[in-house]
Amino acid sequence: MARIGFIGLGNMGGPMARNLLKAGHEVLGFDLVPAALEAFVAAGGKAAPSGVAAAQGAEFLITMLPAGKHVRDAYLSQSGLAAACAAGAVLVDCSTIDVATAREVAAAMPLPMLDAPVSGGTMGAENGTLTFMVGGPEAAFAKAQPILAAMGKTIVHCGAAGNGQAAKACNNMMLAINMIGACEGFALAEKLGLPHQVLFDIVSKSSGQSWAVNSYCPVPGPVPASPANRDYKPGFAAALMEKDLGLAQQAAQGCGAAAPFGAAALAVYQRFVAAGGGGTDFSGIMEMLRQG
Ligand code: NAD
Repeated sequence: MARIGFIGLGNMGGPMARNLLKAGHEVLGFDLVPAALEAFVAAGGKAAPSGVAAAQGAEFLITMLPAGKHVRDAYLSQSGLAAACAAGAVLVDCSTIDVATAREVAAAMPLPMLDAPVSGGTMGAENGTLTFMVGGPEAAFAKAQPILAAMGKTIVHCGAAGNGQAAKACNNMMLAINMIGACEGFALAEKLGLPHQVLFDIVSKSSGQSWAVNSYCPVPGPVPASPANRDYKPGFAAALMEKDLGLAQQAAQGCGAAAPFGAAALAVYQRFVAAGGGGTDFSGIMEMLRQG
């Protein structure tokens, strides 16, 4: 069993840290919000008075923070976070952040660091079924794998530092473009008098198929488990998709990749979030796109 420091006990970090406790690890947690720390203590965790205190003597230090600036702040501005860890410790940042910050922070650390963003949402965090996309040194990945396995089901090593964030940005950009395509197709079918179920039966077995259509259909009916059947309650909130599309654009601009449909998808989600849709499932743009 390992001694683990865990910083950031919010919607995702809270249940992830609880799964580490359930697996028998000794977890010292820290969050700026007292209520998050209290919930962690109620679940059997030990509260640390600061990030550095949580890191003290840790074999693994895990962070699950909102954005790149918080990760930069935690590792680069707060002095001594990595130095407080045990010799040979592995740093694991599970936050979804930009590739450049992930690479910069990893390069500045005196210990091996993994970027390990997740997909699977709060349900996946609760159930320990997250997917981890991991960038960083092979040896550190091998060491951290059993720890990640207590919080997730699929754990993929994507290569060097930043490649986990790269995988997540590419996947979510592709997903958003697919979802918008699915919504526009169903909206056009409605105007042409073609029933949802008929279009679904064709497309889900034809070349227009995608995960967005087949498994997460944005209209009620064809896929009973999709959020469209429960008034677009998330699922995966549109505000998080907007964030991830912004990270994908930042990455594309940083390396000179052309991603015009990713940029257009970002504009669609920005419009949806500005109109109050941030807390709605990302497939809820069906309702906006239907109106033009
Ligand atoms: P959240 O806001 O619920 O939790 C973040 C926590 O970090 C908060 O409790 C906050 O108080 C704490 N925090 C911030 N700065 C801190 C610091 N310096 N020291 C200690 N604690 C600090 O966010 P979340 O939903 O748990 O998301 C965390 C990350 O996971 C984000 O990067 C998000 O994009 C990503 N993510 C979220 C989901 C989801 O469905 N919520 C899914 C996949 C990935």
